[in-house]
Amino acid sequence: MTHHELQFIAGQRRHGRAGTSLRITDPSTGEVVATGTAASADDVDDAVAAAHTAFAGWAGTPPAERSAAMLRWAEILRQRSGELAAIESRNGGKPIKLAEGFDIPGVIDNVAFFAGAARNLEGKAVAEYSGDHTSAIRREPVGVVASIAPWNYPLQMAAWKVLPAVAAGNTIVLKPSELTPLTSLMFAESAREAGIPDGVINIITGSGQTAGQALVEHHGVAMVSFTGSTAAGRQVAATAASEVKRVHLELGGKAPFVVFDDADLEAAARGAVAGALINAGQDCTAATRAYVQRPVYDMFVHRVAALMDEVRLGPVDEPGTDMGSLISRGQRDRVADMVDRARQDGAKVVRGGKIPSHTPEAGAYYEPTLITDAAQDSEIVQHEVFGPVLVCLPFDTDDEGLTLANDTPYGLAASAWSRDVFRTQRASREIQAGCVWINDHIPIISEMPHGGYRASGFGKDMSTYSFEEYTNVKHVMSDITGEAHKAWHDLVFTSR
Ligand code: NAD
Repeated sequence: MTHHELQFIAGQRRHGRAGTSLRITDPSTGEVVATGTAASADDVDDAVAAAHTAFAGWAGTPPAERSAAMLRWAEILRQRSGELAAIESRNGGKPIKLAEGFDIPGVIDNVAFFAGAARNLEGKAVAEYSGDHTSAIRREPVGVVASIAPWNYPLQMAAWKVLPAVAAGNTIVLKPSELTPLTSLMFAESAREAGIPDGVINIITGSGQTAGQALVEHHGVAMVSFTGSTAAGRQVAATAASEVKRVHLELGGKAPFVVFDDADLEAAARGAVAGALINAGQDCTAATRAYVQRPVYDMFVHRVAALMDEVRLGPVDEPGTDMGSLISRGQRDRVADMVDRARQDGAKVVRGGKIPSHTPEAGAYYEPTLITDAAQDSEIVQHEVFGPVLVCLPFDTDDEGLTLANDTPYGLAASAWSRDVFRTQRASREIQAGCVWINDHIPIISEMPHGGYRASGFGKDMSTYSFEEYTNVKHVMSDITGEAHKAWHDLVFTSR
């Protein structure tokens, strides 16, 4: 175990000055994998100052040069993908096959995508919309961006914040979760190696209440982009509002999974198990509420239960492990308490619902859990569990299924399962969520946006839509008449 410098400011790793020590653990065993010291408000000041110093140069760097550096960055990450996956797996308690097959390749593809997108910032065509003027759009970086990321996909969440920001010419100070900073630090160091100048990407590691709060409050920050829980997002938005900072919020989810009676039931059952258990359910788009039309409900529950029995829990570095631990024993206990309360409220726990007996006692494992007979207004149906828990409920008419799908405060992602194109089209129109999958659930791609409706936040990660968050649109309107007396002046005064 090593004592790490957990801050990366102006291109240098260094210790934080908060005086609080951080223990970075492997939650699947409880072992400490690294220690370090947390960032103080002074470290935040330094990081924002470094980002300011770097801003003019980076904003003025031609897109082709920014793009070339990002392509080199993607290549360096590709060379380090094995090391990154091993650390992500160990620090996140996630199976190595998930880190190797999803987390790290997704990030590398994102870097490559934004290297191309950096050269493709668009606006309305320059034109004479008034007849007397030429109008043009300038798309300008907003300045120093403060970003805050969660622990569930540490590097992916960091990448989703950093990439559109720097591709568009901003500089950034990112605060990863204090539980999982290691790969974000490697990400920033790799950017430096690729030729991205010092100060463009800075990482501060510390708690939300200290480092996070100081970063969001900082006068030198022009924009705050936050991914995390709805509760913390509300606080962040309130703090940012006092200085009218631009805010982008990617918050919690409670994705519905609507199965109509003509669906391919095997595909839907497999999709539900994979969609609910990916990353041990710690995925903001995870399938959490399966609404299944009554004629196929029993068959669906039966098949999902059987598939859950096949999921292998085990050491995260074993290639055969399907599901690892949760991020901490605290999170595991939170999930267990929610399942216990659902049980007490009359819900039926069909599978799981307990801490497994064959995994390490110090590990934060929880069994894949299937719940039925829960009330629609109960906690387990309405609130984010962020664990390997799927609730199944029946519905009768299509209207009812779609109404139930929309019946939580969230709106991040959803899926609809049917062989009838009119049913799936209707679901995609009526479900209020930033993404509706048809006959699948979970896949994401760099070219398409990710972001929520309602209590799941606003703004988009990934895709060129994300540039709307990280650029200011300026209208430049130039007179083309050359005349001192313009007709519209007569509305204000009549000159002689
Ligand atoms: P969290 O809200 O506890 O913490 C997220 C980050 O915010 C951490 O870095 C934390 O230190 C920081 N933070 C907390 N309070 C803060 C404050 N007052 N000021 C500044 N920073 C603060 O969330 P978590 O437990 O790390 O992650 C799980 C949550 O993230 C879930 O709700 C999940 O749905 C959500 N999430 C959403 C998306 C999305 O794209 N919508 C993606 C991943 C995770």
